[in-house]
Amino acid sequence: MNVLVAAPLPKAFTYQWHSEHMPRFGMRVIVPWGRQHRIGLVQGVAPDQQLAENIKPVHSVLDQGECLSAQWQALIEFAAKYYHHPLGMIALEALPKALRVLNARGEEPVMVAKSREHAMKLLAERTDPDTSVKANKTKIDKLEKPELNAEQLDAVAQLANAKGFNPFLLYGVTGSGKTEVYLHTVEERLKRGEQVLVLLPEINLTPAAQALYKERLAPHRVVVMHSNLAELTRTKAWFEAATGAADVIIATRLGVLTPLPRLGMIVVDEEHDPSYKQQDGMRYHARDLALMLAKQREVPIVLGSATPALESWLKADLGAYKRLCLKNRAVLGASLPKVELINTANFPAKEGLSEPAMQALVQNFEAGKQSIVFLNRRGYAPQMVCNACGWVANCDHCTAHMVWHKNERMLRCHHCGAGQRVPTHCPTCGNQDLTGFGRGTQRIEETLAGLLPTANILRIDADSTRNKGQMEALLQQAHSGEADVLVGTQMIAKGHDFANVALVLALNVDASLYSHAYRAPERLFAQLMQVAGRAGRRAGDARMVVQTRYPQHPLFDALKAHNYESFASHEMQARKDARMPPFSHQATIRADHKKLANCLQFLSTARELGEPLVDADSPVFMCDPVPLTVVRVGGIERAQMLIESESRPALHRFLTQWLAQLHELPGSVRWFLEVDPVDL
Ligand code: ADP
Ligand code: ZN
Ligand code: ZN
Repeated sequence: MNVLVAAPLPKAFTYQWHSEHMPRFGMRVIVPWGRQHRIGLVQGVAPDQQLAENIKPVHSVLDQGECLSAQWQALIEFAAKYYHHPLGMIALEALPKALRVLNARGEEPVMVAKSREHAMKLLAERTDPDTSVKANKTKIDKLEKPELNAEQLDAVAQLANAKGFNPFLLYGVTGSGKTEVYLHTVEERLKRGEQVLVLLPEINLTPAAQALYKERLAPHRVVVMHSNLAELTRTKAWFEAATGAADVIIATRLGVLTPLPRLGMIVVDEEHDPSYKQQDGMRYHARDLALMLAKQREVPIVLGSATPALESWLKADLGAYKRLCLKNRAVLGASLPKVELINTANFPAKEGLSEPAMQALVQNFEAGKQSIVFLNRRGYAPQMVCNACGWVANCDHCTAHMVWHKNERMLRCHHCGAGQRVPTHCPTCGNQDLTGFGRGTQRIEETLAGLLPTANILRIDADSTRNKGQMEALLQQAHSGEADVLVGTQMIAKGHDFANVALVLALNVDASLYSHAYRAPERLFAQLMQVAGRAGRRAGDARMVVQTRYPQHPLFDALKAHNYESFASHEMQARKDARMPPFSHQATIRADHKKLANCLQFLSTARELGEPLVDADSPVFMCDPVPLTVVRVGGIERAQMLIESESRPALHRFLTQWLAQLHELPGSVRWFLEVDPVDL
């Protein structure tokens, strides 16, 4: 019997089978593992079962694998193959913790059985779609529901009637009513008894979206899944999804790996958002897996964005995705803000703000309107320095500066999380006058408080929203109009429908304009368009002011015109010329070790092993091993090697053969492979 266990090895483990049940894929079992027990998933019968005599028996059978269907198996097998990641790791990590980890007594947690029963009860009570729709109708008519415009109606008609695998790109400016299109579409699909998966980036940032879906789609069963849920809530939601009791599953990236027996459609909102990329373990992209899921299950999928990823835009250009456009803001009288650039060469910034930027803020406040100050850097100052001797506070464990968090009186490393009290004097020369270099959200908040002493200023970033309920409380103040100025990171840009914002000020954008990371301009443009989209949502005459030393940069021409398409065509050409994705395919191999030399040595050996696999006419190319920009994190040095190809099949053929050899390499270097990396 082959059993999948969460172990970093690309194979299943063999056990003897004694149960009276017929073994089949997806049955959860307890197996002996060293001196302990672990939960595993039955994969199938091992071909050499009779031969092996000394193998241990399966300890016990937990369930019959009712929820883990062959369809789910196909998806995780695809993911394992595509990302070259151990199947056992993927399969088990896709499950809520209670289903894959035994409790302290070595038993299955009680919440599993409870959650399963709860879901089975709901499933049994499920009314047929017709009845629930009638009940729904009267309820929904009482709610405020805008009349769709012609573009929205067309989009809904196409999405609601789409059959089979059919990818759509819903390209609509911020505030064009994409959410309404999803809601109407989902409603139509639910009438046919289908289950719908709705993926959102960082769901805990948008409690409003959850509430809206639940309210509008009731009495259909809507469940939410994301990693911040309490374990019991998550386990319950998983069973509701996996048994088919839930009709709509609103989830962050992990939702894509949930079994969905009645799946009829997939929605990926803000499909360009970097949070869809998992950055540890199996480094998958949820949008890409969602497409694969749609293909396997032969269902339509809609990717929505105001600034689609260039990968998706190219697919639409090539006709692989059908493009649906919403060109205008849905609310009458609303318009996108007028974009103005302030050249900091002519108007130098004092405490981060130039004279015209300050004027704009004062004016907007005096007019009784809300302002957003967007700055993608949290903390008080990114560096703490001694002006007497030049000392800079660095992290002991990373090649990085400590960030000064003045409010908490701490220095924090944003790479490894290390923290220490702010020193009272310079450790090198004893100078007591230590200062911050550069500006983060806390420092701008302080500057704004000086500039607008009577204004109510709210800061929204990872620090101010760390505790449960804080985000909701801050958003509540923002929506109610209590807050005059919102200062924050990209968190304030994401999807919020603020009614009264008439000014957006963007600071500190220059680093991304000329960054060595090739996706930096694409990300910056998306962020600026998104934060611009928070202004003028109910009325015209809104402004966006960007402070920069490089006002002539072509990105700003596109921003001023709110023209994603011109940005995309410019950027696409640049990628094409440089043979970068989406015109080539990439993978990286990362090596981690205490000594950088060992990382580089490992990668060189790996490269030598790869050379014979890359024959004369193979289009696969291995680059030189290089240390990462931030080479040391948490005391570990990191290096990587990039592998590129213009042919995806060729790249995968190469990786499969190559990895088989790499797994045999001895040594203490920890390494992993990443397919379609995004942070290069
Ligand atoms: P997006 O997701 O494209 O940014 P939303 O769906 O959040 O846009 O819609 C923005 C605002 O416009 C919301 O307040 C929504 O209620 C409103 N809205 C959407 N469609 C219409 C419509 N057809 N008529 C009037 N208001 C609409
Ligand atoms: Zn000093
Ligand atoms: Zn650190």
